[in-house]
Order: sequence, then structure tokens, then C-alpha cells
Amino acid sequence: MYDVKGNLKEVLANLPQGVRLVAISKYHPNEYIEAAYEEGQRIFGESHEQELRQKHEALPKDIRWHFIGHLQTNKVKYIAPYVTMIEAVDSLKLLQEIEKQAAKNNRVIDVLLELHIAEEETKYGLSDHALYELLDGGEWREMVHVRICGLMMMASYVDDEQQIRSEFRHAKKLFDDVKVRYFADAEYFCERSWGMSHDYLIAVEEGSTMVRIGTTIFGPRVY
Ligand SMILES: *Cc1c(COP(=O)(O)O)cnc(C)c1O
Repeated sequence: MYDVKGNLKEVLANLPQGVRLVAISKYHPNEYIEAAYEEGQRIFGESHEQELRQKHEALPKDIRWHFIGHLQTNKVKYIAPYVTMIEAVDSLKLLQEIEKQAAKNNRVIDVLLELHIAEEETKYGLSDHALYELLDGGEWREMVHVRICGLMMMASYVDDEQQIRSEFRHAKKLFDDVKVRYFADAEYFCERSWGMSHDYLIAVEEGSTMVRIGTTIFGPRVY
């Protein structure tokens, strides 16, 4: 088996204080998650509802699951009973469905708003304009079962470090502005989820509070 424990330790040693690790376990077997769990890792991220459900049922109940992928509204009800955070919220419709399903389960679900900053067409997320439109709309203020805890984004998948860095900086600027304008009194609005295997060292230099790392810990995914 891949040296999950050794890799995990290495990654953790690279993270400054105040930056948390979401271990991205999608497509990896339960044994890999258990190995990381034995090392003390408790936050794991998955991007498919069914896979997440099976892992949630089979693995220790104190694991905090983050849903990191694109989430269809009709899947929210399946993860609402137990998911800790939904990281990639990019529409009011999705936010409303999370509110509804969280209320049914009598819980508050933490979410992040996903930004679209990368050049790739295929990526989901809110443009700057759509982000402010959603926040200015104000519907979210009435949602007592959803807590918007910060922003999430993926940088372009390129080798150009300067480009990656400037995308993270843009995200940080947006975060600072949104914090002041909408969440000044909300202590919980504090998360900046950026940084993956290939760019997390840059991300932590550019203000990330939460890195999402899969391959560096668990090896290549077998689809
Ligand atoms: C798969 C995935 C990751 C982890 O990517 P690695 O390159 O394996 O570290 C991080 N964030 C999101 C949204 C993902 O889908």
C-alpha cells in the first residue's frame, strides 16, 4: 500500500499553524482513510454522493466529511443528515436546497461559496459578479440552517507559478472585501479553501486556511 502515513506526516509538516488539511479520499479505498485516521486525521473530502455515503457508513463516526465536488440539488438530501461542510456552493438554488434539507434534519450545515477564477471553462463556481449578486440578494440572511463560513476555489491547472499565485491573490482580495461588507461581525466567516497537491505550498503563502490534498497523500486515483 501507498505510504499514506508517511505522506500525511510530510504534508502536515509543511502546513503553517492555522492551516487545516482536508484529506481528499475520493476513489481511494477505506484502508487508506483508516491509515490516515490512525495518524489523527479527521477531516476528509469526497466529491460523489454515493461514494461518500458508503464511506460514511463504513468508517468511524467522528470523521468530519466535506463535500468538495459539484453537488446537484437532488443529491443534497442524502448528505444533509451527516455532512460537516459543503465546500462548493455556486448558486442560490443550491443554497436554498441545503437550507431546506438542513432544516429537515434539524441541523446547521457549514458551506463555502465557490469562486470561479481559473481560466478553464469547465470549472464551476461564481464569477466575481455572480458572487456579489448572490450576497446582495440577501436571501442567505434568512437562512438559519446554513452558515456561510468562507470561500473556496481551484486555481488553473498550469505550471506557471505566477498565474497560480495571482489567482490565489485575487481570491484573497475577494475574501477580504466580502468579509468587510457582509460578514464583519461573523467570526465564523474565516475560511479560505485553496490549495491542492500541486499548488498547496503556494496557496498557504497566499492566505489559505484549508488545503484540499489527495494525490500527495494517497497516490494516484484509480478511476
Ligand atoms: C480532487 C480534488 C482535490 C484534490 O486534488 P489532488 O490534486 O489529488 O490533491 C481538491 N479539490 C477538489 C475540488 C477536488 O475535486
